[in-house]
Amino acid sequence: MDRYLFQVMAVGDGYGGLEHRSSTSLLCKRDDLPKFGEKEPGDGYRQFLGLASHEYFHLWNVKRIRPKRLMQADLTREVYTGLLWAFEGITSYYDDLMLVRAGLIKRERYLELLARTATRVMRTSGRRLQSVAESSFDAWTKFYKQDENAPNAIVSYYAKGALVALALDLTLRERCAGVCTLDHVMRALWQEHGRTDQGVGESELERMVEQVSGLDLKAFFDLAVRGTGDLPLQELLATVGVGYRLRPARDTADQGGYSKPAGGEAGAPRSVLGGRCQAADGGARVTHVFDAGAAQAAGVAAGDLIIAIDEIRVCAENIDDLIAALGPEERVSMHLFRRDELLCLDFQPRIAPKDTCDLWLLDGVGGPVRKRREAWLGAL
Ligand SMILES: [Zn+2]
Repeated sequence: MDRYLFQVMAVGDGYGGLEHRSSTSLLCKRDDLPKFGEKEPGDGYRQFLGLASHEYFHLWNVKRIRPKRLMQADLTREVYTGLLWAFEGITSYYDDLMLVRAGLIKRERYLELLARTATRVMRTSGRRLQSVAESSFDAWTKFYKQDENAPNAIVSYYAKGALVALALDLTLRERCAGVCTLDHVMRALWQEHGRTDQGVGESELERMVEQVSGLDLKAFFDLAVRGTGDLPLQELLATVGVGYRLRPARDTADQGGYSKPAGGEAGAPRSVLGGRCQAADGGARVTHVFDAGAAQAAGVAAGDLIIAIDEIRVCAENIDDLIAALGPEERVSMHLFRRDELLCLDFQPRIAPKDTCDLWLLDGVGGPVRKRREAWLGAL
């Protein structure tokens, strides 16, 4: 096209984007924009670039290469497709990948973003119940109607969809020896569906990946798209010379990132609540209770206002530190209000699960692994 317009509204606080056929509307924080003299994009600007890249990629993937089901949609009612994982997930995969390929961010900073996506998915136990195909299909009734049980019940077709796209790309790169990658699949989709404006049928994407690659990928799609098992990311990332590990979070701000393990495990085991709280008058308001966590075992429910643990007053700011100081076998009292009723529960913290992802560039990789890594991230 001759002209593509980025319409950016920079505000005090806000974030979001919407794709159009030849433009995008973006909302960002004023503070995210680059500061004078900044040599490398800071966290906020990197996120903004990722957003701009995401909406720009939609110019192809969803605005022109479109699901058949959305082509003649009846706009008076919901339209259902199981393909949102591909249209949003593949776009989410390419948004940050393009930043590193374009040389706007370093490889380490890209892997940090990827690790955080993996952490988000690993912290959603709903991934064991809902596949990305189901998450796509149920977007109207579940993803956009999230309640306090959402992390236990659903998975994001954006975040897990991006990991599925990564897994597919790395599978193709290894099994086709670099001759076919997800880039080739996207080009074929453009030729057959984008240029011609022929919608993509519900099973056509898989057929096309198999056609372009010459591989039988049924087992891959059964696991990654229709299944609820975890993706073999460790094995796949090793094929491009990237280390992967899961470890417990060090604190509540820890979302994983780029980090080479410095021998052994990451710190001592830490006791956690097994839920999420927000600040409230007089205590910590429980917003989420995670499946198989300590809070659930104690009988805590979303909406409860925790006021004391071990007879010490708590608030949203200190509750995690207070629990972290307890041993995992220690049984203490927990006072909370459920509506206007005071309850005293037996609470026994549990060790933080290994749900935090670290990625790093493996040292001393040579031959085909190095070649694949350079082809994937762009040789810098
Ligand atoms: Zn999108």
